[in-house]
Amino acid sequence: MTTAAQIKELHKKHLWPNHLLYYQDPVALDHGEGVHIYDINGNKYLDFFGGILTTSIGHNHPKIVARVSEQMKKVIHTSTLYPHANQVALAKKIAELTPGRLETSYFTNSGSEANELAVLAARIHSGNMDIIALRHGYSGGTAVTKSLTAQGPWRFDPIMTAGIKYTHNGYCYRCPFNLKPETCDTACAQDMENVIKTTTTGKIAAVLFEPIQGVGGFITPPPNFLKIISAIARQYGGLVIDDEVQGGFGRTGKHWFSVTHWDVEPDMMTMAKGIANGFPLGDVITTDKIAASMKDAGLIINTFGGNPICSMASLATLEVLEEEADPQHCQAMGDVLRKGLDQLQKKYPLIGEVRGKGLMQGIELVKDRQSKEPDPDSVNQFFEETRKLGLLIGKGGLYGNVIRIAPPLTVHEDALGEALDKMDQAFALVQKAA
Ligand code: PMP
Repeated sequence: MTTAAQIKELHKKHLWPNHLLYYQDPVALDHGEGVHIYDINGNKYLDFFGGILTTSIGHNHPKIVARVSEQMKKVIHTSTLYPHANQVALAKKIAELTPGRLETSYFTNSGSEANELAVLAARIHSGNMDIIALRHGYSGGTAVTKSLTAQGPWRFDPIMTAGIKYTHNGYCYRCPFNLKPETCDTACAQDMENVIKTTTTGKIAAVLFEPIQGVGGFITPPPNFLKIISAIARQYGGLVIDDEVQGGFGRTGKHWFSVTHWDVEPDMMTMAKGIANGFPLGDVITTDKIAASMKDAGLIINTFGGNPICSMASLATLEVLEEEADPQHCQAMGDVLRKGLDQLQKKYPLIGEVRGKGLMQGIELVKDRQSKEPDPDSVNQFFEETRKLGLLIGKGGLYGNVIRIAPPLTVHEDALGEALDKMDQAFALVQKAA
């Protein structure tokens, strides 16, 4: 058997050094079951980051294992040149879950590809070039999606593409206008009109947003924010592209898709991650009319997109979500999680803000609540302490000072209680050192 040390050595030698690894001594994972995952030395962890919000039904759910195994015995790959029962069944299912006019899907292999395609479709359909992206957003690792990403550390000058402008996000905790949410008239959203008037020709292709910004640190906008920026986009000829890669499939509670919390109906939705519990699958769902513009514009193909295996994995995932972890379950479990985190905030001054919805909760750490100076060192220490206690979590934020908590959607009170207890113990140590 390959040892943990050997894996780490081979990783260093044969994988690019910019593969980001969590923890001072990276954890080589081996196998998982439900909310738990085990490293190669047999250490057991509660997995509260779920492979970056991806293992929505937990590890090794028997239903997905059975369905995918059956499919593997039939056929693994057909290419998108042939229609396949799994692919069409999945497209129908997603159309049922998404709001209103969103009816027709194009499957990809990742969230980056989905966003890239959505941008292309918006440009083709509108005849306009400019996309308005949100500051602190994250859209992927390809040239266009990296250009959409508005966080310095994730950008690479040589590949930046033209035709993308950035508007404010709804980050009340660090309001760029220094206003209070009660009286601000959502100035951050209204400012998008200035961005369009001053940095574009006055015609745009789309606004693209994550309702809750994932990598940005689970930044959760105020009530009218998404409605205002969507209305402004449409006023200037643009479509509304909603990135549900992290927030989709019930993650944020109450609704299948996070945008519904803000009462906005997008023209296109992109999704990936939790859609197939770890099998590589992305989707762009849109209206018949927008899809028809793409057909008229030219040829496009995706060899693997929505292949029989990944489509089956997604069908099984969605079935399990409906049976065991629907948005109401996520809401109820999210309430338990949030209540516990709010209590921790009362106890530990280094917690500046707790935010998010459902099972997508962020904890922003600061040196002190007055200055709000970001405290990434405490996040790093919190990581090491929680790991020792057997809890895996995520981090994010432009300043690296936000802890991201996102357990599998199938989580229950017992695991939530255990994780909150471990976080309490870890915060006690980190607060002492701060
Ligand atoms: N959109 C969002 C909101 C994401 O968080 C990510 C990945 N972190 C992507 C798009 C890109 O997805 P992928 O890594 O599957 O290409």
